[in-house]
Parts: sequence; structure tokens; C-alpha cells
Amino acid sequence: MKEQVRAEIERDKIKAGLAVVIVGDDPASRVYVNNKKKACELCGIQSFEYALPAETTQEQLLELVDTLNKDSKVNGILVQLPLPKHLDEKAVIEHISPLKDVDAFHETNVGKIMIGNYSFLPCTPAGCMELIHSTGIEVAGKECVVVGRSNIVGKPMAMLLLHENGTVTICHSKTKNLAEVCRRADILVAAVGRPNFVTADMVKDGAVVIDVGINRLENGKLCGDVKFDEVSEKAGYITPVPGGVGPMTIAMLMKNTLTAARIQNG
Ligand code: NDP
Repeated sequence: MKEQVRAEIERDKIKAGLAVVIVGDDPASRVYVNNKKKACELCGIQSFEYALPAETTQEQLLELVDTLNKDSKVNGILVQLPLPKHLDEKAVIEHISPLKDVDAFHETNVGKIMIGNYSFLPCTPAGCMELIHSTGIEVAGKECVVVGRSNIVGKPMAMLLLHENGTVTICHSKTKNLAEVCRRADILVAAVGRPNFVTADMVKDGAVVIDVGINRLENGKLCGDVKFDEVSEKAGYITPVPGGVGPMTIAMLMKNTLTAARIQNG
């Protein structure tokens, strides 16, 4: 995907720029921001980093977003979440111009996804769809189960599967008989945020299993929401953690930045 973005940028001589804003010194956020910068370099996208101190005020952050909204070199704006507790994430997201909202978190873009008329898709669910497509399995008519209903992963994921005519069930912490529901899935997406939550007895033979979870264990290692060793024995296809959805998310961010540049340059 990144090579494809780079090839398009070179072929069509596109100038694309992505501004990444990070507030405070959360180590995980720092790793994500660095990975995004590296991906920009690889794709030929100019990256602009704004590293602000943890005590940045809401007003200062909104002012920066205003400046970036007006900057013609910046086609995409990404504010790395989570923000420090004293800042209002929702207000910051709503301040980003929907045309530069390459994360597709702005209410305008969320609404467009709902009705299926969108320019950008949120990077993580869009990356999951690419992974599902890469199996060659058609979503239409399949039983799809998404565990998790957050605004940034679970809900848009379910919507994308629905747009492709999957029969979609969304599960959450109040779902009864979760294992039984998951066992029905031809396509199972886990976005729970609990290490090794999905076990082999919850998975149908041959299912496509997409593991969105990124959990850090006490020993410092990363693991997903799916118990990879046992589920990989049963699944037809499975994504690993680390790897899989994480790198795909960044690749989709590059694609969205290219799309934003194309739209803004007419
Ligand atoms: P949230 O915490 O916002 O949502 C978690 C969801 O899981 C909620 O809907 C919650 O239900 C549900 N849940 C929690 N416990 C249970 C349970 N016991 N049974 C059933 N459902 C449960 O997380 P996110 O959606 O933001 O992220 C999910 C995971 O994906 C995290 O590990 C995160 O780090 C990772 N992530 C990875 C990305 C990537 O690039 N690979 C990008 C974004 C996130 P309820 O709504 O009822 O509380």
C-alpha cells in the first residue's frame, strides 16, 4: 500500500503534506508518531511535527489547528490521541477542517461514512477491510462479528462490513453468550483492548480473524486481543500482533493524506 502511494505521488507529481500534533510525552504516542513520520518519508509525503508540552492549553492547541487548517502545504492534520486529561479531545477533533481530517474522526466524516458517501475512511477499520480483501473472501452474505463498539474502531468497522453486504453483529461488554455469537462468525474482528480475550473455542473453523487490539503486557511485550497460538490453528486467516492491523493503519493514513492532497488541489 505504501509503495502504491509513493508510486502515485511520483507519477502524478503530487505535493502532499501531513501535520502530526503530539501533546505531552506519552511513550506509546511517541512511538506511533515516529512510525507515521517514517511512513511519510517512505511515501514521499512531507511531514510536519508539532510536539507541544503537556501543559499546552486548549486555546493554544485550537490556535495551532486553525493555523494548520489554513496552511496550504498541510493536506492532512492528525492530532495524536489520547490528549492529556485537561484537554477536550472532541472539541479539538471538531476544529480540524473535515477536508484535512485524515483520521476521519470529525462528525462530518463520521456522518458521511454512515451514508456511504465518503472521501476518507478511518484508518484502522479501512486497514482491516484491506486485510479482509487480501484473503480473496467476499464479505457479501457472510456472518461478520465485531467485538467492540468504540467510535474509532468498532462502529465504523461494522459500517464498512455492512456497506459490503455482510450480516453484521456488534458485541460489547453487555453482550450475552459472546462466545456463541463469535462462533457464528465467518469474519471476526476483535477490538476490545483485552489481552488474549478471543480464545479458540470462540472461533469457527476457517474463519477470518482480524485482531485490532494492541495491549502491553507486564513484561513489556505487545499482544493482541486474540490468543494467537491456539486461534491460528483454527482460523483460515489471522492477523498477528505486533504486525497486521497496526502497520495497515499507518498505510491507510498515507493513502488518506494522498486523497486529501488530490481533493485540495482539485
Ligand atoms: P475502547 O476501550 O474504546 O473500546 C473497547 C470496546 O470493547 C468497548 O466497546 C467495550 O464495550 C468492549 N469490551 C470491553 N470489555 C469487553 C468484554 N468483556 N466483552 C465484550 N466487549 C468488551 O477501545 P478502542 O476501540 O479504542 O480500541 C480497542 C483495541 O484496539 C485497543 O487494544 C486499542 O489499543 C487497539 N487499537 C489499535 C489500533 C491499531 O492501529 N491497530 C487503532 C486503535 C485502537 P462497552 O462499549 O460496552 O464498554
